[in-house]
Amino acid sequence: MAARFDGQLPFLLKVLAAAQPLSLQAHPSLSQARAGFARENAAGLPPDAPTRCYRDANHKPELICALTTFHALCGFRPVRESLRLLTGLGVDVTGLERDGLATWFRAVMTERRSLTRVVEVPGFERECALARRLVEAWPGDPGVLGALLLNYVVLQPGEALFLSAGNLHAYVEGTGVELMANSDNVLRGGLTPKHVDVAELLSVLDFTDAAPTVLRGDYATPVEDFRLTRLTLGAPQQLPARAQILLVTEGEAQLGDLTLKQGESVFLGADEQRTLSGHGVVFCASAGLSP
Ligand SMILES: [Zn+2]
Repeated sequence: MAARFDGQLPFLLKVLAAAQPLSLQAHPSLSQARAGFARENAAGLPPDAPTRCYRDANHKPELICALTTFHALCGFRPVRESLRLLTGLGVDVTGLERDGLATWFRAVMTERRSLTRVVEVPGFERECALARRLVEAWPGDPGVLGALLLNYVVLQPGEALFLSAGNLHAYVEGTGVELMANSDNVLRGGLTPKHVDVAELLSVLDFTDAAPTVLRGDYATPVEDFRLTRLTLGAPQQLPARAQILLVTEGEAQLGDLTLKQGESVFLGADEQRTLSGHGVVFCASAGLSP
C-alpha cells in the first residue's frame, strides 16, 4: 500500500451528519484532476485560493454508508421520470429528452433558470418537499432545478452508495460513514455559498440517466484507494494484516487489551495482527488492494 500510494494513506474516513441539504457537487476522474491541478498551478492560483476547483491531482470517488435513515440525491434520474416531475411543477422542459439532458442542464445552469413556486406532483412527494426547502434556502439558485433531475435515494442503516467520477450528487439528510479517496477536489453546481464553476462542472459530469445501485452487505467498488467493511461483533475474529482504521458505531469492541466504545476509532498498522471481539458494529476502512 505504501509503495502503491507513495507512502500516503490513500483514503479519508469521516462520519457525515447532514441536517440541511449539502451542496450539489461532482468529483473529477484521475486524469481530469491531474490536468485541472496542473492548469490552475500554471495559471498561478495560490493553493488555498477560494476560486480553485482542483486542490490536488487526485480523483475523489466516494462511498456513503447509512448509520441512520439517509436521504441522498445521486446521479441523473431516468429522463422520462424527470419529465413527469418537471412538467408537473410547470417547468419549461423544451429540449429535455434523453439525448438532450446535457444540453438542457447546461442551459439551466448558464442561464441561471430557477424555480419559484412548488406545487404538489403526485408520485413525487419527497422530491416536492425537498424542492420547497431548497427554493426557500437558495432562492434564484439554478442548482434547485439541477437537484430535481437527480435520483432521490433513501438508504436504510447498513446500505451504501458508491459515487464514481462525474456523478452529480447532494446529501440531503441523515448520518453516515463516508469513505473517499485522499483528495479535496469538488466541483460544485450550487446550493452553497462556496465557489461554483459551472463550466468546469459540466466538463466532468456523467449524464448517464439511470437508477442508482444500492450496495448491501458487500461494499465492493472498482477503486483501489479504499475499501469499507462493516463487521458485526461477536466471537473473536482475526483482522486481516493491513493498514486500516476501525470505527465503532454501535456497542463496544475488544481489540486485544484495548476497549473501543461507540464513536471511538483506532488506526492499525499493517504489522499489527489483532483479534477483534465484542458486541455491536465496527466499520473497517482500508485500501482496496488485494493483500
Ligand atoms: Zn461528494
